[in-house]
Amino acid sequence: MSPGPGAATDAAAEVLAALRDAARALGERVAPRLEGLGEDDAAHVALGALAAAGLTRWTVPERDGGADARGLVARDDVSARAVCTLRDELAWHSGMLDVMLVMQGLSAYAVARGGTERVRAEVLPALARGELVGAFALTEPNAGSSVDDVATRAEQSGGTWRIFGHKTFISNAGIAGHYSVLARTSGEPGSRGGLTMFSVPGTAQGLSCERFEVIGPHPIGDVVFDGVEVGDERRLGPVGNGIDLALATLGRFRASVAACANGFARRALDASKARLVERSQFGRPLASFQALRFEIAEMDVRLRAAQLLTAEAAAAVDAGGDATAAVARAKYFATETAGFVADRAVQLHGGVGVRRGSVVERIYRDVRALRIYEGTSEIQKLVLAREILG
Ligand SMILES: Cc1cc2nc3c(=O)[nH]c(=O)nc-3n(C[C@H](O)[C@H](O)[C@H](O)COP(=O)(O)OP(=O)(O)OC[C@H]3O[C@@H](n4cnc5c(N)ncnc54)[C@H](O)[C@@H]3O)c2cc1C
Repeated sequence: MSPGPGAATDAAAEVLAALRDAARALGERVAPRLEGLGEDDAAHVALGALAAAGLTRWTVPERDGGADARGLVARDDVSARAVCTLRDELAWHSGMLDVMLVMQGLSAYAVARGGTERVRAEVLPALARGELVGAFALTEPNAGSSVDDVATRAEQSGGTWRIFGHKTFISNAGIAGHYSVLARTSGEPGSRGGLTMFSVPGTAQGLSCERFEVIGPHPIGDVVFDGVEVGDERRLGPVGNGIDLALATLGRFRASVAACANGFARRALDASKARLVERSQFGRPLASFQALRFEIAEMDVRLRAAQLLTAEAAAAVDAGGDATAAVARAKYFATETAGFVADRAVQLHGGVGVRRGSVVERIYRDVRALRIYEGTSEIQKLVLAREILG
């Protein structure tokens, strides 16, 4: 299946087409090498390849060592359409390539928006070149969908902050060289405001990580801050501005979760079409059974709708206006659709569909987390309903 209607019609289309070609070439070359590697090795090989191809630069603004995205965005910023194009294509090939690309941006964005010249210069070109592995630490055991419940504390003493707390479900925990961390600088968990973001080196004393496994290959774990000291120059933006920076980061990158879902779903649909043509039962190709043809039609139309919503959302982010509703629609619909398409793909493959190592078995596991991270499906519906009803 074609990558869908993600391309723009103007000069930007050429840039996006070139990005897709680069991601495809990289995926074809590197994805097979990642299979069979341990999680950390795969993460490092994936990031190294993404950086060597210049793709990680698209997750950082140009002034901080990133790519020049000004043909796609009005001011020097990360282009949501560029990141969506890359994630759609990378996810078709490998979930690891996808996650290692986007984590660089999620880690970089608050630094780009709120960091001092010195911290920006230290952190951002290194993230753009893939020399630092990035992480973005919001979630805690008691603060998931509700960010107001963040309890990690940053206490100021002179020019130094000491951070105490426990983050969980942090992608790249343990392998990251840079963490963008949301911590409480005033008020109690559950209260509005009082949150500030910090740039924390992965080597900081008092920072420790414990890894766990999730359903698909994804470096992830807990991060504990036991009196981690950072200078005031590592504070990102004004004290109390953390929620704005965290939401700006998510606002810039959330549409790309939809794009990633579309890439996985497109791969599952491609595999299903091939399977129905190759496989015969009852003396006929599976592709000749109307019941199964209807399944393909259903998968195709839902995916196409998801691609259109994603293109609309990414274009709205790049245009710089209020993209809240468009992004919530796209993230909700595309990730749910990927779950549907992956499930139907497994069914169309029969036993092969659940056999470890088959493409659709892998995708079935890969797509599940997309409905949970960066705002669950329920939270996207809450956001959308608020936009519609007030
Ligand atoms: C693979 C993966 C990678 C992740 N990476 C990161 C990362 O790098 N950094 C980071 O900070 N976090 C990360 N997360 C965490 C992720 O953002 C959270 O899991 C997510 O925000 C949901 O929080 P929770 O798991 O605590 O679920 P909960 O908030 O406990 O939600 C449980 C259920 O209740 C529903 N629910 C909650 N509140 C409401 C409500 N008001 N109305 C209706 N339904 C509601 C939810 O939709 C969900 O179905 C990652 C998670 C996963 C699975």
